[in-house]
Amino acid sequence: MIQKKVLFHLFLFLSISVLAQQNKTIVQSNGCGSDNYLQILRKDAAFSANELNMNKQIRLFNASNEIIRQRTNTTNNIGRTTYSVSPITGIISIPVVVHIIKSNPESVTDQMVIDGIKELNDAFAHQGSYSSDTLGVNTGIQFCLAKTAPDGSLTNGIDRISSYYENIDVDLESGVLATLSQWDPAYYANIWLVSSIKGEIPPTIFECGSWQRVGYGGYASAGGGLVVSSLSGPLVAHEMGHFLSLLHTFQGQNCANADCTIDGDLVCDTPPDRSTKSSPCNNPENSCNTDTISGPFKKDVPDNISNFMDYGSPCPSVFTQGQSDRMHAFINLFNGGSLLNSNRCNLPCADAMMAKFDWYANPYPIIGDVVNFNNSSTGASSYSWYVNGVLMANTPSFNYTVSSVGTYIVKLVAYNASGNCTSSYTGNVLVDCGVVARFSPDKRIIASEGGIYKDPVLFQNTSYGATNYQWFVSDTTGANFSNAGNTKDLLYDFLLPGTYKIKLVASNGSCVSNSNTYTLTVLDPKPDGALSVYQVSCYKTDSIRIVFGISNSGYDTLHAGAIVSFYDKSPGALNPQKLNNSFVLPKDILGKCAATFTQIVGVSKPKQDSITLIFDEANIINELNESNNTVFKQKFQFKISTTPADTIVYTNSTLALLLNNKSLDPISSIVWSPNIGLSCTTCTNPTLNVTDTVLMKAVAKSIFNCADSAYSYIKVFPIDISLDSTTIICFSNDSLLVTVKVCLANGYKRLKKKIEIEYFDNNFNMTKANKLGSIYIDSSTIFNNGCVVVSTHIKMTQTKKVFIYINNLLSQFEINTSNNIILTNYTPFKLVAQPPNYVAYRNENLPITIINQGDAYKNIIWTPSEGLSCTTCLSTIINTKINRNYKVWGINKYYCTDSIVVNINTYYRSHLALPTVFTPNGDGLNDYFYIISGTDVVAVNKFQIFNRWGEKVFESKSTKPNEYISGWDGYYKGKIAENGTYIYYILITLLNGTIEEVKGNITLFR
Ligand SMILES: [Zn+2]
Repeated sequence: MIQKKVLFHLFLFLSISVLAQQNKTIVQSNGCGSDNYLQILRKDAAFSANELNMNKQIRLFNASNEIIRQRTNTTNNIGRTTYSVSPITGIISIPVVVHIIKSNPESVTDQMVIDGIKELNDAFAHQGSYSSDTLGVNTGIQFCLAKTAPDGSLTNGIDRISSYYENIDVDLESGVLATLSQWDPAYYANIWLVSSIKGEIPPTIFECGSWQRVGYGGYASAGGGLVVSSLSGPLVAHEMGHFLSLLHTFQGQNCANADCTIDGDLVCDTPPDRSTKSSPCNNPENSCNTDTISGPFKKDVPDNISNFMDYGSPCPSVFTQGQSDRMHAFINLFNGGSLLNSNRCNLPCADAMMAKFDWYANPYPIIGDVVNFNNSSTGASSYSWYVNGVLMANTPSFNYTVSSVGTYIVKLVAYNASGNCTSSYTGNVLVDCGVVARFSPDKRIIASEGGIYKDPVLFQNTSYGATNYQWFVSDTTGANFSNAGNTKDLLYDFLLPGTYKIKLVASNGSCVSNSNTYTLTVLDPKPDGALSVYQVSCYKTDSIRIVFGISNSGYDTLHAGAIVSFYDKSPGALNPQKLNNSFVLPKDILGKCAATFTQIVGVSKPKQDSITLIFDEANIINELNESNNTVFKQKFQFKISTTPADTIVYTNSTLALLLNNKSLDPISSIVWSPNIGLSCTTCTNPTLNVTDTVLMKAVAKSIFNCADSAYSYIKVFPIDISLDSTTIICFSNDSLLVTVKVCLANGYKRLKKKIEIEYFDNNFNMTKANKLGSIYIDSSTIFNNGCVVVSTHIKMTQTKKVFIYINNLLSQFEINTSNNIILTNYTPFKLVAQPPNYVAYRNENLPITIINQGDAYKNIIWTPSEGLSCTTCLSTIINTKINRNYKVWGINKYYCTDSIVVNINTYYRSHLALPTVFTPNGDGLNDYFYIISGTDVVAVNKFQIFNRWGEKVFESKSTKPNEYISGWDGYYKGKIAENGTYIYYILITLLNGTIEEVKGNITLFR
């Protein structure tokens, strides 16, 4: 069962060999057929199920193993937990058998094979010439040339078959190697070494008129075997990697890395990779940026191009720890671990002996031939020969007559002298009638059609033993074979696309052999012009510049002279107008190639903003696809916008402007206007110092000299003038000094024009009002912090009110005028005595305070100064014996004055206090005799004085008491009266209305 699976489940490895074709330049290329082949294999549900199951088991095995091995958890840069595990310890050995399939198998010596395995072991151990790259690990997997043969006897693990299958065609003959020789793949890694592997994995690349055909270096399958065309270390290591279940590092070629155990090559420490290209070892390509999504990578790293499982590496030397883990898991799981436990690397017995034979003299016997087997064994004492398991001879030499078509299994067993050790060698002898029909095509995929593009295929005849040939080619559907020729090789032109089958019948007369049938896909080679528009631009206002590509997705050449027409409307629109200057293809465009052109066409109208391109409008060219010949583009005109487009800001603020290019054409020049307040008039992003509402215009020109303009409407919040606190001070008694605070809101620092402040004695709007004055604030006035203080003289108000208005005529626009009026009540500068008349008692202190209304006084003066404690204070203390009138005079700081009179009436505390002596000598003391009384005496009705002769010397009537001026001055008839005693008679009215009479004496003394 395993043997059957092996050859079916082959992964393919494309070598770097290249097949030439049609004398065209062929670029060396490394393709990859494995993914393609894998897709084909996966169409088999059983294969897919097996593959999925194996991968699942490998994941589980690795997971459990990692727990056993020392494991370090870390967190990568997107927060996922990543881990590393310590390397596997211990070395395991896989037994290998090398089948040398050559016409002269001895050309590959034992030593060359031994060296090849040494190289393979170096690669897996990361040593020798493979040791330098730090990404690599020692896998702990080694390979031995088997020492124990499948029958348990001694072997050197090298098997030689002389065969024309040294040049093997993968498509036609891949199954044949196992029939030549195969050891049980449960216990051995079978390596078939051939001279060449003919094949080509579709799709081989066709690019710009040339095929780049890629051949095989080898192929392998997980647990199957390896076919290699050389023992080159990297090639064998790569195929051995496949044999041990590794996939290409670029598997999937899609950068997927949602789960590194499921995506890509199923190995986490190989970075995601989608490229099969070669790149320099010191500057590796980085084809994926998904590295950190899952797995151990904390940052994006380049592709691991030095990995054995990558392609085209100039420096293959690496298996990673993850790949090593996967291979170990596979070895443990494959066939129950049979490879691991086969022990075929051990010597079954110790003896310097080796069995070997060949039948090179007649490698392709026919019925009736006597095949002579050449025994070249070394160190043996005796022999046994078996054919199909039957002992035939015990002689050193042996020959055998083959009597029928088929395979004879011939085995030589050699014995040592003591008979305790055997060595064996087995060969499959294939017998036929002498002819084997074989061939190989030199191309595996072509495009060809008669009259358009022919790509003849050379079917190279590799038949054995024939003299006559007949070639048969089917129709385009693979049916109805017809004879295509009898030459040895067949050079065949396929005149129609289709799927052909080709076979060869070869004979030498009696013996006839039918080849396997080859299926060839012939593609339609018609050219296919398709348009791609890369850039459309306004050009010098009256034209359009178009950068476009013409790609030929067909195989045949698009010839010079093909025409691209231009129209001004979308396809199907009414009345399209053809534009001047159609494009004529100036050169051929080869198949699967493209070229880019620039064409300038005239517009049908200014600012035309749509265009249609039509390739081969006249339909002259026979194309594979006519539906991709028209392209429509619009909205390509050079266009700009500005931001902000419309905004409102505070005055004296700074605003960032931005010019946006709405088209793809670069700008060559910019002009902003007006230029007042702009930081820059020719840049995309000036700043504007906004002082007033303004319409900013930007004009830009493209590099192709087309212009566009855009506007930014920048408005400022309107000015708002307001009146704030006021003070009013009296000035020179006839006018007022008014101070008012005027403020501007919304960022303004000055007025746009002069504005009047008006002063009235009443509400201007409500009643008759007298204008008291006005003043203008000039536009040059700077309102620091938004306000200024304005002082002016106005007429004196009679209403004790001042109404102040600003901007009453709205000569400066503002929205809010409610704050343009302010009323201040005016209190005049005034001194008040409350009460105005005071009663003072003789020799007693009387405090008096004058009230200051309106403005504060600056100076106060009392006159006369007699009897006052302070003559410059509002509050003073009076002490007087007589009645007095004081005048109090005040002044404010701006020369407004006021004065009042304070009347002081002085009284004696008791009823009457009349002296007994008075001295009218003019000394100012006691010069008068008058009525001194208390406050209960309200009037002196009569006051009479008589001398000793009874003569009346003085009389007064109806006077007030306490007034010396109403008293007697001591004179009589114009002369001072004589000293002596005088009699007085007084009649007074008391407060209660009663009349009192008083008599007494007074002595005049001089
Ligand atoms: Zn491969």
